[in-house]
Amino acid sequence: MKSSQTTALALFSGGLDSTLASRVVTSQGIKVVAVKFVTPFFGYELLAKKDDYIRKIKETASIELILKDVTIPYLEMLKDPAHGYGRNFNPCIDCKIFLLKEAKKMMQEFNASFLITGEVVGQRPMSQRRDTLRTIERESGCENILVRPLCAKNLQPTQAELNGLIDREQLLDFSGRNRKPQMQLAERFDITEYPSPAGGCILTDPILSLRIRNYYEEHEKIVPEDVLLLLLGRQFKFPSGGWLVVGRNKQENNRLESQKQPGDWMLRPDNFPGPTVILRYSQNDKELQLAASILVRYSKKAISVQGKFKILAEKDGKVISLDTVATQDNNYLSWQKK
Ligand code: SF4
Repeated sequence: MKSSQTTALALFSGGLDSTLASRVVTSQGIKVVAVKFVTPFFGYELLAKKDDYIRKIKETASIELILKDVTIPYLEMLKDPAHGYGRNFNPCIDCKIFLLKEAKKMMQEFNASFLITGEVVGQRPMSQRRDTLRTIERESGCENILVRPLCAKNLQPTQAELNGLIDREQLLDFSGRNRKPQMQLAERFDITEYPSPAGGCILTDPILSLRIRNYYEEHEKIVPEDVLLLLLGRQFKFPSGGWLVVGRNKQENNRLESQKQPGDWMLRPDNFPGPTVILRYSQNDKELQLAASILVRYSKKAISVQGKFKILAEKDGKVISLDTVATQDNNYLSWQKK
């Protein structure tokens, strides 16, 4: 049994591999603190239910977890990742380098002797090739402190192994895309609940990542509140500068309400069922009227009948009532159809 002084800091994605990597190390008697980094593109929704999530991971995977929001520096990194983007707007290599650098900064706070990840050599075409794994550890400054427990036996021994902090013999030799060894190991550890691999990063989503890419191309200053808004609803950009987002269901309507910022108009139907909409960066009343018309257009009930509809529009505590009809006007642009 290792001394209780030895602590490892694990990069935890919530997926099976990082769960197993943590368990392989704790099974050697080493304390593991797992950190789940969150950004608007992965894990962000967990911030609202942080305690429940941490408790769930403790119960289902026996892992001590902390969540850390790294939105601001991550959005900066996304502007110009040195290794470029993958198929969509996913900067996987720079993302891994970035997260390792962040984890390295936290080592002292947790008295951690080394870092661990759930990476498996050869599992992913771009970011888990052998040479890429080396690039990632070198460029993150983690060359001597990064252990990959699931494939360690396929890699050169790390300092942690050479110094006897962790027993290489008990580490694993997984490689490639076959998930069977992971499934078997999960069974051994009695882990039954885990998400499917590679799911969950919005930067790999073809539609949402295109919105984000367009936003990055059009803005020098990246505003986190804008990025969060980009991920919701139907999106329209008015030629005169306003940006309209229309909720597509009750859940999105609620999320839109929570995204409202000073200076935003929030419009809601008054006398009929329909979506919530946010109008941002609007400088003129015409856009407000157009926003109201679009709201009506996306109310199934309203467009099935003729007449005027009342809409409540609120901005910075001021509420006004608008009478409107559904728009027949296509003089607005979807964010994606430039
Ligand atoms: S898929 Fe997303 S979270 Fe995963 S490495 Fe790539 S950019 Fe990072």
